[in-house]
Amino acid sequence: MKVAIYSNDGSTSNRVAQQLKTKIDESKILEYDGLNPEIVISVGGDGTLLSAFHHYNDAVSKVRFVGIHTGHLGFYTDWRDYEVNELVESLENDNGQSVSYPLLSIKVKYSDDGPDDNFIALNESTLKRINGTMVTDIYIKGEFFEKFRGDGLCVSTPTGSTAYNKSVGGAIINPQLNAIQVSEMASINNRVFRTLGSPIIIPPDEWITIVPDNQEHNILTCDQLLIHNRPIKSIQYSICNERIYFAQYRHTHFWKRVSNSFIGVHPDD
Ligand code: NAP
Ligand code: MN
Repeated sequence: MKVAIYSNDGSTSNRVAQQLKTKIDESKILEYDGLNPEIVISVGGDGTLLSAFHHYNDAVSKVRFVGIHTGHLGFYTDWRDYEVNELVESLENDNGQSVSYPLLSIKVKYSDDGPDDNFIALNESTLKRINGTMVTDIYIKGEFFEKFRGDGLCVSTPTGSTAYNKSVGGAIINPQLNAIQVSEMASINNRVFRTLGSPIIIPPDEWITIVPDNQEHNILTCDQLLIHNRPIKSIQYSICNERIYFAQYRHTHFWKRVSNSFIGVHPDD
């Protein structure tokens, strides 16, 4: 089985990545292959897994990811830095077990002459404006829904719902649900301007189109990537046809992960 390692630059991560590489080289079953891996092991935090996902973006449905965390427990990372031996053993006994989660499809049309763009996000995409209020029309399934005025919008996946989306008051979605969420950032609401004011959750057969009033000075992100400085005509968000796969050798219940991360250790633990 072909395995790649994607590590951040921290000293613990480097040490763990080196240990892992040695173990893979020693193994008769595992083979290191950074170019065409079947398994990608990310070493670091959730941010590192996000970078690994974008690095292997083109092969997203062919690989399975595994996350080792070298800091605090993460949402995409199940293994601790001192568990390298157990992880290698699990890889050697792999029988293809996996769990998959939805991804966000982002289709961007520009008002310049350049080509349109398609991206996929694992956490979220945001659209923000740097100078002045962002004013955009929002359509759901092609039907006008509302005119938004405020700082910006965040469109997230279920696994991304615990990231930026949570900070802007979005709901946490169990990633067993195939859905995307749109949450507002500081919308302006008064007698003149009105938005719904609460996050909305979109099923697989619907899509969101965002059309900015002013095509310039918008900032579009896709996970930790800043997309472009080009004038945006419209953005279409939907659930991606592809999903991300994780090699599942152990299972942490989603709500337990949420409670451990945000509330603290439970007295029963
Ligand atoms: P970062 O600034 O290190 O990330 C911010 C925090 O978000 C880190 O603690 C990171 O965990 C955590 N995180 C990432 N994905 C998560 C997830 N799915 N569920 C829960 N927490 C998650 O930058 P980064 O590590 O490159 O991550 C990029 C992400 O940061 C973006 O996709 C966005 O979701 C998030 N972000 C949040 C805000 C905000 O809340 N105001 C603003 C900008 C970006 P690790 O320490 O394990 O990496
Ligand atoms: Mn980070």
